[in-house]
Amino acid sequence: MSDIKQIISLLSNPTEKDTKLIEKAYNFVTVSHDGHLRKSGEPYLNHLLATARTLAELGMGPVTISAGLLHDAIEDTDIKSEDIEKEFGKEILFLVEGVTKLGHIKYQGSSRHNESLRKLFVAMSQDIRVLIIKLCDRLHNMRTLEHVSKEKQLRIATETLEIYASIAYRLGIKKLQRELEDLSFKYVYQEDFKKVEELSKTKRIEQEIHLDKFLKSLKKELAKNEMTAFHTDYRVKGLYSLFKKLKRKEWNIEKVYDVLALRVVVSTIADCYKVLGIIHSVWRPLPGRIKDYIAFPKTNGYQSIHTTIFTGDGGIVEIQIKTDEMYKESEYGITSHIGYKQKQNGAEQKSSLSLSWIRKLLPIRKSWNEETGQEKSSLNLDDVPGWVKDLVDYQKSAKDDKFLDDIKSDFLDERIFVFTPIGDVIDLPKNSSVIDFAYSIHSDIGEHMSGAKVNGKFVAINTVLHNGDRVEIETKKNAKPTHKWLEHCKTTIARRHISHFIENLKK
Ligand code: MN
Repeated sequence: MSDIKQIISLLSNPTEKDTKLIEKAYNFVTVSHDGHLRKSGEPYLNHLLATARTLAELGMGPVTISAGLLHDAIEDTDIKSEDIEKEFGKEILFLVEGVTKLGHIKYQGSSRHNESLRKLFVAMSQDIRVLIIKLCDRLHNMRTLEHVSKEKQLRIATETLEIYASIAYRLGIKKLQRELEDLSFKYVYQEDFKKVEELSKTKRIEQEIHLDKFLKSLKKELAKNEMTAFHTDYRVKGLYSLFKKLKRKEWNIEKVYDVLALRVVVSTIADCYKVLGIIHSVWRPLPGRIKDYIAFPKTNGYQSIHTTIFTGDGGIVEIQIKTDEMYKESEYGITSHIGYKQKQNGAEQKSSLSLSWIRKLLPIRKSWNEETGQEKSSLNLDDVPGWVKDLVDYQKSAKDDKFLDDIKSDFLDERIFVFTPIGDVIDLPKNSSVIDFAYSIHSDIGEHMSGAKVNGKFVAINTVLHNGDRVEIETKKNAKPTHKWLEHCKTTIARRHISHFIENLKK
């Protein structure tokens, strides 16, 4: 019971109703998972508590935390959906079923499907909270991965790296992304992991000496300029992130300046530029290393000013300047907007939890966006000093833009993702049928289709497909398309082949 009390204590001002709900979920799973053990031999309950705790740390509310406790009840115990609905209502049932469904999507072992799998994940979750519960669930599974077989370790770690960590990045939840990446890295690239770990340690010790000295002088300079409202800390670069950078720099650690970086956190955007000005007037910056992510946020919403300076004693260090709000957002991303702490009455905002909301939020948190106009918390580009604009080396990350653009253009409303029997992901327009699927595999398969199975059951070939369906086509040598098929297909490719076949028949 003390575990759950601790989790509840992470909520800010929970009402009695909130506390009761979480305690009820806790008591429920204590009974339903009774005697159920993890591979490690510890009680299964520990996994549920760990998932709930991460959710609470991310600032999620009592409904999401309760669903986190219940997330394995349907899959791993005798509990039925009806039981959960009866005890906890439709909303929690919806979340638990969502997490259960996502659990059935498996990484297929080939990188060419990663992007589709990520989209399938987002599309199937329907509610951002489902996705966040799933990420927290995976985090604990990764923390305890040493207890499963070698083969399973590699599959799960690769899946985590390619799918889960990548989604955490796109949602801006750095706190989860960094840990998911580093835990997977250890299993997926064992040799590289050891090498990077060693390099990071050595470089960190070296940087620390320069940074400590620099910080003392910086505090003096800031005080001279009457800047007193700020705080600082160090951030250590994640090992996987360092690995990716090292690969771009021919493994030359001397070219990586941000293994350890100093964060200066102030209260206003104007102060960010003031601090930058003070630093640059005393220490010489490295050319081409000034990144103004305040004026030009990264595509996942990240904001901060980065600069790298010569410390004057032979060191080169990176400094990140941001406001408290940006700091919080960079760690908690999307959860800092939908989390419990935002609410005054303790209710989780349903209106802001749908996927259409992510679509709106992710790509356009920029104040100068023409569609939305200017937001209160955002920055007017005119406020950025010209000299900063001149210095800025702004590069657009084209790869990430594409993912977001796809989402933005209502991609997920228009497309579905289904599996072949060997697990390839096929992406089709919404309301596509088995006929469309067959032709998208190969025109010969479409032309000789005699029957089909969806999720293991025989179905009519005009059956409409849904996200995550597994489709199997049966063919016969003398089977052929009929005119009627045209009424049941969505894709141009299927239509074209069928019409063509019928015309040939006429001739
Ligand atoms: Mn689980």
